[in-house]
Amino acid sequence: MGKMIFVSNRLPVTVSKANNKLEYTKSIGGLATGLESYHRKSDSIWIGWPGISDDKIDDSDKLIMEEKLKNDYSCLPVFLTDEDIEQFYHGFSNRTIWPLFHYSPDKVAYDVNTWKAYKQVNKKFFNIVSQFIGDGDIVWVHDYQLMLLPRMIKENYPHTKVGFFLHIPFPSYEIFRLLIWREEILHGLLGSDLIGFHTYDYVRHFLCSVRRLLGYDHDLNKINYQDRYVLVDAFPMGIDFDRFSKDYSECEDFTKAEKEILEIKQDTRIILSIDRLDYTKGIPERIKAFDLFLSKYPEYQGKVKLYQIVAPSRVQVSTYEQLKREITELISEVNGKYGTISWMPIWYYFKSFSQESLIAFYRNADVLLVTPLRDGMNLVAKEYFASRLDNKGMLVISETAGAASELGEAVVINPNDLNEIADAIKNSLEMSLEEKTVINNVICHRLKSYNVYYWAEDFINSLLQITSDLSNNVSKNLEQNKDLLHNAYINAKKRILFLDYDGTLVGFKRIPEQAKPDQELKEILRKLADDPNNTVVIVSGRDRDILDNWFGDLNVHLIGAHGLWIRHPNKNWFMTIPIDNEWKESVRNILELYVTRLPGSLVEEKEYSLAVHYRQCEPVIAKVKLNELKQVLLSMTASANIGLQEGNKVIEVKDNRVNKGYAALTFLRNQRYDFILGAGDDFTDEDLFAVLPDDAYSIKIGISDTAAKYHLKSWESMRSILQAF
Ligand code: UDP
Repeated sequence: MGKMIFVSNRLPVTVSKANNKLEYTKSIGGLATGLESYHRKSDSIWIGWPGISDDKIDDSDKLIMEEKLKNDYSCLPVFLTDEDIEQFYHGFSNRTIWPLFHYSPDKVAYDVNTWKAYKQVNKKFFNIVSQFIGDGDIVWVHDYQLMLLPRMIKENYPHTKVGFFLHIPFPSYEIFRLLIWREEILHGLLGSDLIGFHTYDYVRHFLCSVRRLLGYDHDLNKINYQDRYVLVDAFPMGIDFDRFSKDYSECEDFTKAEKEILEIKQDTRIILSIDRLDYTKGIPERIKAFDLFLSKYPEYQGKVKLYQIVAPSRVQVSTYEQLKREITELISEVNGKYGTISWMPIWYYFKSFSQESLIAFYRNADVLLVTPLRDGMNLVAKEYFASRLDNKGMLVISETAGAASELGEAVVINPNDLNEIADAIKNSLEMSLEEKTVINNVICHRLKSYNVYYWAEDFINSLLQITSDLSNNVSKNLEQNKDLLHNAYINAKKRILFLDYDGTLVGFKRIPEQAKPDQELKEILRKLADDPNNTVVIVSGRDRDILDNWFGDLNVHLIGAHGLWIRHPNKNWFMTIPIDNEWKESVRNILELYVTRLPGSLVEEKEYSLAVHYRQCEPVIAKVKLNELKQVLLSMTASANIGLQEGNKVIEVKDNRVNKGYAALTFLRNQRYDFILGAGDDFTDEDLFAVLPDDAYSIKIGISDTAAKYHLKSWESMRSILQAF
């Protein structure tokens, strides 16, 4: 196995400079704390920003830092300037992606300059990655700041295994589509072999966006993207369970924090909340809910305290500054309203604590209140259960936090319903120890098994699995065998080339008539066909008229209407099989009925067939309606000479005897060729591949199941091969 490289915006260690000296502290946040445990145990390199601006350090600091990070932490720094941090991090990452992905479109800034910076900084990360990467390496890219990086890596280092994990929610398509640069972001992510999310809902949203915006469908979460498969799956991130459950009585941070907590606690019960400062965490709403709880259940006044820890974060962004003010004001309001000389309801800490101190808080809290409006996962909720092993605690958690899908036994609430939160606090405080024990045991058992090591190993194993499946693909990637094909072509004396048209020589257009051959293609075909050693055959599903119109001036042979008609250069068309069309009337009526119910679809009538095109339709509705249509058609066509054939966004009812393979045989029967090539992109071309002799070069455009020997990424790659001929 190659090297393992993690890449994330922040390193698990943060560097700062005080009194002219560099200082190294642990970073906070879900990604840093979660993955750091795995990083320490595995033999990996972690590439990321060390948290200090390039403008605040000189070259000698950089050297010292690089050495220290490498030797003590297995980390490599990416240096970012003040400008990068402002535009890329505070700008595009935190003012565009973060609010949009957390369902706050009203907070999203659309700024071309920050987008430009996002691209440039992703490139900066790529430049550092390129210094260390080699064939066979595993690169695991993390989070929303680096969504363009997987594509950069894959395009430049196709033989690496690239994984991406998103630590925040992936929003529903209706939200994601609002992003101006949505297609580029999707292509960036699809550079990965494996894309992981915390929950199945996020997986679903992502697949839907890929299908609706890029047109790539999936089969059991596997997207057939260009010449590769990309697997998309859910990997709910776990915690380092043992780290939270172990004994800390000898640890100073822990004992000091515990002493203070107990001094303040006295004979009250503790409700605890721990969040990074962020508008997604629902902190103001929670304080209002606590206010409601105290007024609705006055018997608890003087009996409970809310410890609200807010870890400072992104304070440079103005929305965060406002939020900080709002929280302070709300807390003073509640404390002013209910507080007495001997009792202050909310104890507010606007600072970061070490995890050892947090564990002291967790172990003394009767209820943990986790009420984000949206949260990718929320590790605090999981850490609480792992820390509070005496079963005396209970969690109240938002249904919109990713963690809720694994902690469903706890008290789950809608974060917008303050009344529900107030009741949930009361119910949790009053829950019997028996009930809490059952819930704690189930959850702890799960968190212990699905811990952060399991999470990381599960992800890496899936990545290895999908990349090895790909290398086992039966059809070989022609890109890697181009020379072989080229030499065979050059050395041959009598060649025949069967070329499908749509999707093989040109891309798909919204309206089929627009897919006219361009000048470049006409030139390529002209040159190939004028070579006396070549027989060039265009094999298409299209009608004679259009083929005449597009290729009549070339020295090519034409197979039209999926094999019903053949025309040799300067000759007339002839029919390969006499057909009968009596069936058409009844089938046409049914197709037209469905087309009126499926916006964007249309019926095309050909001499031997009727087709429904649905490229323009909403894919989910199309799938349902077409399944229905297929059932109806299958029952009608069972006994006749007609059959159903599915192509690329088209269903065709046709005379079964007509197919591309049958027509191609008429060329192969009477002549001997020493070079035979057949290329096509859809189901109808499989008939052609099936009749080609063993030594022929059959080429499938795309990588879905095929009888072809080779596959190619796109029609552009096919063209470049023909151009080289
Ligand atoms: N954390 C910490 N000190 C603090 C506050 C939080 O070490 O003062 C840690 C906490 O233990 C957890 C992480 O930061 O591991 C927060 O992760 P979470 O998923 O809850 O929220 P995120 O910050 O990723 O939005």
